[in-house]
Amino acid sequence: MGNILSSHIGLRGLILSFVLLAVLGTLCNGLITAYGVQRDALVHSALEANRAYAFKVASSIDGFLYSVNERLKYSSQRLGRDIANPALLEEEALRLQAQDSELNSVLITDPAGKILQAYPPGVQIGSTVASTELHAALKQRQPLVSQAFTAANGKLIVFVSQPIFSPAGQFLGLVGGSVYLQQRGVMHSLIGEHHLDGTFAFVADGNRRLLYHPDQQRIGEVLGWSETVDIALHGENGTLETVNYRGVPMLAGFAHVQGSNWAVVVQQPRAQALAPLAKLMRDMLIKIIPAGVVGFALILLGVMLITRPLRALAGHAIDLSAPNATAELSAIKAWYAEAAAIRQALVMQAQHLQQKIGTLNAAAETDLLTGLGNRRAMKAALEALDASQQAYAVLALDIDHFKRVNDTFGHDVGDLALQQVAQVIRDCTRAGDLPCRAGGEEFCLLLPNTGPSTAKEVAERIRSTLSATPMKQVGTLTLSIGVAYRSIETPTAAAILKRADERLYLAKENGRNRVVAEDRVPS
Ligand code: GH3
Ligand code: MG
Ligand code: MG
Repeated sequence: MGNILSSHIGLRGLILSFVLLAVLGTLCNGLITAYGVQRDALVHSALEANRAYAFKVASSIDGFLYSVNERLKYSSQRLGRDIANPALLEEEALRLQAQDSELNSVLITDPAGKILQAYPPGVQIGSTVASTELHAALKQRQPLVSQAFTAANGKLIVFVSQPIFSPAGQFLGLVGGSVYLQQRGVMHSLIGEHHLDGTFAFVADGNRRLLYHPDQQRIGEVLGWSETVDIALHGENGTLETVNYRGVPMLAGFAHVQGSNWAVVVQQPRAQALAPLAKLMRDMLIKIIPAGVVGFALILLGVMLITRPLRALAGHAIDLSAPNATAELSAIKAWYAEAAAIRQALVMQAQHLQQKIGTLNAAAETDLLTGLGNRRAMKAALEALDASQQAYAVLALDIDHFKRVNDTFGHDVGDLALQQVAQVIRDCTRAGDLPCRAGGEEFCLLLPNTGPSTAKEVAERIRSTLSATPMKQVGTLTLSIGVAYRSIETPTAAAILKRADERLYLAKENGRNRVVAEDRVPS
């Protein structure tokens, strides 16, 4: 029966499992949500920072180109007034070069591209420029910022130029300066160095040729494909989550340089932008865990309180027939309605069972012929009396010459006589006394809470009543009775019983139909 409980999963385990699942689910959900929110915030802020940075770089480049153009414009106006003056040409070339350290070289040509003046020296005065970019500028007769190209001196440059017009409006040539891209110069000072967090900027011209890149080797390389550069070259500023040419996810901000149609891109590997996320999540877990442990302990306590009465009730439900089941069930603290209802139902069922068992026991402890207690009842009662501290007396009774009754009237009449004798014994006793049929025509009367004199009186009453009451068919019968009681000499039930038997024997010896309550019969 016990393994009904042990072989099934318990209520406590069930509730705890569900609670644990729910708590873990909620925790995971919370962490996943927090992770997502934090990640989006980090991505957003990185993109915004990169966009702002790209915009700042683009504005700086624009500002630089604007100021170069302004200076060239001033020069072109001076030159337009006196282009034939070699001293002025030299002065302007020197001045521009000195004014603007970012211009690596200065060039003045006539409308056909013939070099009128150049700085630094070394370029053949009077020769004609070869590069298509310069010829395009001469043809357009407009202020211009070229795309990147490799100049006659082998350097990768960007050329900024202004047309020269005479005061009458005649086109006289151009004045321009070049920026060398592959050496440290204006781009480096405008953009700055890389950052520790992996953020870096690069600048590409309208042909997607790299004008600036932190990796010096890549300057001049034409990008095969770049989403950010292409969008920026369309004149837009903004942000994009993209992958670089190696397939690494990047968070990019980009901006357009209006004066030259260049693209500035600032980007950071996504993984590096998200690096703080791991620490954030760890901090969060560390803060959540103590509260979680306390919460779980409270739940555990609650579950124990709720399941305790049910566990106790279930423990007793499997053996309602136990003698103390009712008392133990009643002692269970069923502190909530459902447990109380179950307890009440179990108590009622236990009582019902006890009653049934009680009836069975009564049947098992009753002598069939006389209705008195049998030997089993006598033994149980003596054990109970022995276990108690109370005084009690035992009467051993035996019908005198009963053999003759049987012999004379037959066994059935003898049985009838036994029943009548039992009735006389019963009539002479009080509630609480236990008359038993010890066997044959011998009886035993247990008298709880009874001292020697009362016991003797009861014995005498039974003896005299029987001798004065004729039995049907058989006439008068008599009894011999031995009386014993709890004393220092006879402390146990066995000793008292033995003593009662000995005195019964004395009564028989001394002529029958008498009570003997001492060890010696007074002569
Ligand atoms: P005494 O006790 O006075 O010495 O004589 P007694 O004749 O009663 O002696 P004893 O105890 O030896 O005999 C008991 C007789 O009781 C023997 C038996 O025939 C009879 N007896 C025992 N049990 C029953 C019973 O259940 N029914 C009947 N009818 N007779 C019984
Ligand atoms: Mg006998
Ligand atoms: Mg007898």
